[in-house]
Amino acid sequence: MITDRQLFLQHLAPTSDAPLALEIKKAKGIYLFDAQQKKYMDLISGISVSNIGHLHPKVVNAVKKQLDKYMHLMVYGEYIQSPQVQLAKKISDVLPKNLSCCYFVNSGSEAVEGALKLAKRYTNRSEIISFKNAYHGSSQGAMSVMGNEEMKNAYRPLLPNIRFLEINNLSQLEFITKKTACVIIEPIQGEAGVIESKKNFLKALRKKCSETETLLIFDEIQTGFGRTGIMFAFQHVNIIPDIILLGKAMGGGIPIGAFVSSKKIMKTLSENPVLGHITTFGGHPVSCAAALANLEVITSQKNNFDVLKKEKLFRTYLKHSAIKSIRGKGLLLAIEFDSFEINKKIIDRCIKNGIITDWFLFCPEAMRIAPPLIITEKEIKLACKIIMESIAYFFD
Ligand code: PMP
Repeated sequence: MITDRQLFLQHLAPTSDAPLALEIKKAKGIYLFDAQQKKYMDLISGISVSNIGHLHPKVVNAVKKQLDKYMHLMVYGEYIQSPQVQLAKKISDVLPKNLSCCYFVNSGSEAVEGALKLAKRYTNRSEIISFKNAYHGSSQGAMSVMGNEEMKNAYRPLLPNIRFLEINNLSQLEFITKKTACVIIEPIQGEAGVIESKKNFLKALRKKCSETETLLIFDEIQTGFGRTGIMFAFQHVNIIPDIILLGKAMGGGIPIGAFVSSKKIMKTLSENPVLGHITTFGGHPVSCAAALANLEVITSQKNNFDVLKKEKLFRTYLKHSAIKSIRGKGLLLAIEFDSFEINKKIIDRCIKNGIITDWFLFCPEAMRIAPPLIITEKEIKLACKIIMESIAYFFD
């Protein structure tokens, strides 16, 4: 009989010639189990998705309950569907007042697309400002604001009129003018290898955007839903964007994204012409039911899963001369080695020893640590022991 592995190789469009190709049969909490019943600790959460763990019972129940009522009914924006409106209300409740109007979409990239269109439409301007090493997704609009030239070159022409600034470079903020529709930024860059924007930089950015009536878009697709020790990364800085982008962990493992803004700004997508953004499945009732349960689980945690304490544990246990630095906040950490070659060898060894990790798209020399936020102290200790043994295997 033809195996699933053979089917994977023959019929699934590849994204590289070296896929991980782990054959996972089951997932629960922070663990994945392969075809040979080998248990892996998931230290990357399917790239910052499974914040409350795989197959959380509350999410599973919410999905099952919704499946008994209805699935897809109509394209986005026409019918009143309880899971959708309840989710929109709950998201508005956890965000500042000006972020009270949710447009639900299917993915992070689509949230980026919607937000860029919204900014152009609302401001009547076309210039967009992004940042070097930014990652905002893989569709053409999202790719246009990607701060990595090498990945874009094969797909040009992309969107025109985009300028890339350097994170934390205050003098470059002068490029934001009355011609700029929006600035899109990850408050903590993920795929760049977890690069934090400094508080004073984000504050100055907010000020400059307000002065020039430029919309400030925070891409919290990777940093949202508790990942950095607080519900959203913008809360570390105490400034408020005009549009926030959500995705990844939003659905507790079910696909959903959103761009969220004020009613006043969002309304422009519905007039002259109408239907400024159209999506068939955006805000799917099953996805919304899952996302609502996910958000209830996260908001019911008083100390946000003690993410900041858990960050400290990783920083305490991971100490070796081969580690050049540990960057990041909460449970979005980058362990930096000298080169990709060394990092890759250590990662392969970790996977062999039952720890799933990988590198960052634009920072291949750094190992990704982004486990489900429910990971326990004991599990962190064990994960670090295995990582340290994997480093020692090559260095000691
Ligand atoms: N923005 C950020 C910050 C991301 O990390 C990602 C995905 N890695 C995206 C956007 C794109 O999301 P998606 O893959 O769901 O389209």
